[in-house]
Amino acid sequence: MSGSTPPLTIDSPDPARRRFLQIAGQIAGTGLVAAPVAGSLLGASSSPVEAAQQSQQQSQRAAMPPASVTGRPMPQIQKPFPLPPQSRIGFAVVGLGKFALNQIIPSFAESKRSKLVALVSGNREKAEQVAGRYGVDRMAIYDYASFDSLADNAEVDVVYIILPNGLHAEYAIRAAKAGKHVMCEKPMASTVAECEAMIRASLRAGRKLMVAYRAQYEPFNMEAIRLAHSGDLGKLKLVVSDHGRNLNPSDPADQWRMSAKLAGGGALYDIGIYSLQAARYITGEEPEEIHAMIHSTRGDPRFREVEENVTFQLRFPSGVLANCSASYGYADTKRIMVQGSEASLTLDPATDYYEHKLTVTKGKTEERIKFQEGNQFALEMDHFAQSIQEDQPPRTPGEEGLQDVRLMQAIYEAARTGRAVKLEPRIPDVVADVP
Ligand code: NDP
Repeated sequence: MSGSTPPLTIDSPDPARRRFLQIAGQIAGTGLVAAPVAGSLLGASSSPVEAAQQSQQQSQRAAMPPASVTGRPMPQIQKPFPLPPQSRIGFAVVGLGKFALNQIIPSFAESKRSKLVALVSGNREKAEQVAGRYGVDRMAIYDYASFDSLADNAEVDVVYIILPNGLHAEYAIRAAKAGKHVMCEKPMASTVAECEAMIRASLRAGRKLMVAYRAQYEPFNMEAIRLAHSGDLGKLKLVVSDHGRNLNPSDPADQWRMSAKLAGGGALYDIGIYSLQAARYITGEEPEEIHAMIHSTRGDPRFREVEENVTFQLRFPSGVLANCSASYGYADTKRIMVQGSEASLTLDPATDYYEHKLTVTKGKTEERIKFQEGNQFALEMDHFAQSIQEDQPPRTPGEEGLQDVRLMQAIYEAARTGRAVKLEPRIPDVVADVP
């Protein structure tokens, strides 16, 4: 051996030197300065100050991104991953109207367990347009005549009925007979008998039935329920809830709402049901006595068949009272107030699609409860999907929808007779083998 320094090549026979050259070469490739690394490899730090400087330089280097393309570890995930498409529950949406197209179908994009796989519509051209935008197979478009052949589409687990109220029962029963789970818009149906027939059809088919009471999946309403039940308001005394809007006869979505046959009822069935629901879910009880009054503006053609204004009072077994109203003549109103012995809460708007506002008032102090807004439509669809996947009853089953129709009929009776209607304060059972 001559003893002269070997040339600086990566093929150097000295392993320590080869390692040094590899690291130096990698750093050169990232554009970093190689000298300090070489220094540390060679044990060059001679004082605590230098050591601290080197450690600072090293941590700065660690934060530098690689200069060329590379894979990186999984970042922190802020929202839970959705299930993979093949594991999600497939929904067929029936009726491509205002609510289905503006709220429900776009919300599949925010769901974790549900996916849109089929459409049912009387308008093929519209359905094809929607299918194209949302990636639904053209072969999975049905009309009302071919509805029953949904039975042959294994991709469809749930049939979601978003038709005028008077058509819910027929299509829910046909969907159950086709072997599908059913999600049905509110109100569940026009009559108690129809609701019972829907429940029986689902029981006989061994499938689930859920009423799409979105407020019971909406985070602000859930928080109002929690506060009411937690004792934070003291002893509950009164629930006040008002829902109203102006019925617009030039809007096609409001035209069927003027027909008793298609709507089942007027302001009470359409939006008073939110006031009724609020009284029930805030108290967690069923009413035992109902009083009511109805008035419709005379001569207004919108109210030939359905009512305009309703007020109703409920008495619950614990002694809590509810004072509720619904109107097709109010300016937009969607409010819930709960009065307790120590504090009160106001949710206003309470049952809008977005931007709810919840305040708790105690003496002179008013606290605005800040809460993460959630997509209630995606949340309710995912709840039903999960209840199917885990074979659990949904939170708002057919019996919940039946109870509201039963109570709304009692409200009509109380208004018609001018007398209180007394009820058993419980939800009656529906048995599958009764015709
Ligand atoms: P629309 O009138 O906008 O939609 C109803 C759709 O049903 C129509 O577009 C049509 O779909 C289909 N349809 C079939 N037969 C008829 C018929 N004879 N008359 C009218 N439509 C028919 O109503 P909405 O979307 O406002 O309401 C639909 C349902 O959703 C109702 O039960 C309502 O109570 C509920 N809803 C619930 C809301 C909530 O917040 N949970 C909010 C709004 C409504 P196609 O042309 O595709 O056949």
